[in-house]
Amino acid sequence: MRILVVEDDRDLQRLLVKALADAGYAVDSAADGEEAHFLGDTEPYDAVVLDLGLPKMDGVTVLEKWRKAGRTMPVLILTARDRWSDKVAGFDAGADDYLAKPFHTEELLARLRAVLRRSAGHASAEIEIGKLRVDTRTSRVSYDGTVIKLTSLEYRLLSYLAHHKGRVVSRSELIEHLYDQDFDRDSNTIEVFVGRLRKKLGSDTIQTIRGLGYCLDDPGAPQPQ
Ligand code: CA
Repeated sequence: MRILVVEDDRDLQRLLVKALADAGYAVDSAADGEEAHFLGDTEPYDAVVLDLGLPKMDGVTVLEKWRKAGRTMPVLILTARDRWSDKVAGFDAGADDYLAKPFHTEELLARLRAVLRRSAGHASAEIEIGKLRVDTRTSRVSYDGTVIKLTSLEYRLLSYLAHHKGRVVSRSELIEHLYDQDFDRDSNTIEVFVGRLRKKLGSDTIQTIRGLGYCLDDPGAPQPQ
């Protein structure tokens, strides 16, 4: 999952980027409204953490422009404490959730997991695909009751497929959602990671749909078209 963090307070931005990266997300950041708007308009983020008070263009305007342009990624806004009018303006502009500053990083991570789940259509924090269980709270993966140790990129890939279970995900989509902007993107690495996941989880866990991409689905579900 790839997240955009928009925050003009450099210290807070650094803290947020680190917390999200530690939690296993690919993270890009922006420090003003114009850059934020451009990135959110051109890159396929899974979610955005958006401060409202920003230089060049305020957060509410940024969000309104995204929504007008049909950008539907979940957006969690950061508001000043006790500014109820900010929250109203944010929700009216299309925000999915908010956090008032100051906040605990754990709460931000939990709210982010929730909006990511909801946008992918999952109500529960644990995603089940056959014998495979992906716990999005702890980043723990188990197969048939046995905990499987994954590297952070292996987890990122599996978690993306799990959030979109039953759907064919192309290699280019995976690249766009697993790596941040500055990463040297090499599509062969995806194949390498899928290979490693199959070794750890069983060769039939991730299906290759020739010429289209990969799919994680319940066994016995109809083959994806
Ligand atoms: Ca600010």
